[in-house]
Amino acid sequence: MEPRDLSAHVAYEAGRGVEEVARELGLDPDSLVKLSSNENAFGPSPAAAEAIRAYAPRVHTYPKSSATDLRERLAERWDVDSAQVWLANGGDGALDYLARAMLDPGDGVLVPEPGFAYYGMSARYHHGTVAEYPVRKATDFAIDADEVLPHYDGERVVYLTSPHNPTGSEVSLDEVEAIADGTDEETLVVVDEAYGEFADSPSAVALVEERDDVAVLRTFSKAYGLAGVRLGYALVPGEWADAYARVNTPFAASEIACRASLAALEDDEHVEKSVETAAWAREYMYDNLACDTWESAGNFVLCEVGDAGAVAEAAQREGVIVRDTSSFGLPECVRVTCGTREETRRAVEVLNDCL
Ligand SMILES: *Cc1c(COP(=O)(O)O)cnc(C)c1O
Repeated sequence: MEPRDLSAHVAYEAGRGVEEVARELGLDPDSLVKLSSNENAFGPSPAAAEAIRAYAPRVHTYPKSSATDLRERLAERWDVDSAQVWLANGGDGALDYLARAMLDPGDGVLVPEPGFAYYGMSARYHHGTVAEYPVRKATDFAIDADEVLPHYDGERVVYLTSPHNPTGSEVSLDEVEAIADGTDEETLVVVDEAYGEFADSPSAVALVEERDDVAVLRTFSKAYGLAGVRLGYALVPGEWADAYARVNTPFAASEIACRASLAALEDDEHVEKSVETAAWAREYMYDNLACDTWESAGNFVLCEVGDAGAVAEAAQREGVIVRDTSSFGLPECVRVTCGTREETRRAVEVLNDCL
């Protein structure tokens, strides 16, 4: 037998792991600086790590109350109703729930190109079709109504990423509104704020309150340093928030993930340190890299290096792993995650040597 026709599906290409690269190069993993997956340079919040340890002896029970607690806590944080908080296995899981809730077979979605691969992957899993709007170097990767609407053709979901991965550009709330106004009543605009904590601009959650056609995606993977526990969520309009009960996988977020996230939310110091250091690292890269960079609102900087494959490989041989953005359609660029001060200085030195 065969699975269904998966020829339109592509595998997600994750940034490479430290152990994987160290083994291949015969190096000590601790000597490598991994700046390829936009992970938190400071690790998880210590409070979250402690919460995980403390709960370990009780993971034989199904998770329940901690998910309720986390939804309530996030609802307070965003000033929405807890029903509007759709917890999931990472932001990716929340994208799946939105696709499940929105897409009938054959419905279209509109995604940024270059952009986050999982929007299209998730739509295809849910029997949707995928169209793209360009995020163009010529406009410094602007995402606004003028760039998006000419490519809109009645799709059911339009994805915006702010800050945008891999370019670091932002979408203003006025433009989110203009895009939502310029699309059909039955079109949902999803604003992916996976890097929202690193930006100074306001969240699009304000629009979730005002309208029924904007949803926001957030995650604990980046600023909170919990990529490995997989906890993300969508904030959706109250009008249809109850759809969650009908689309979520039972126990959508693990007990460990909920407890770690609850603890991380209380640890302001860790997030502040992460955000401040990322801001420092961005400036350091703009000022000291011997190549063109784009201003970024995330914890990463896109750098124009010429032959991305060659530069990424040369840097890796020197122990610095960066993301070659060829798979995003930018074969002349690498994306460098903001590290600690020490890691960032070393990355800049190595990259400059490789250019
Ligand atoms: C990292 C990321 C996500 C979500 O990641 P999860 O680990 O699944 O929470 C979503 N969108 C973008 C653009 C990202 O870079």
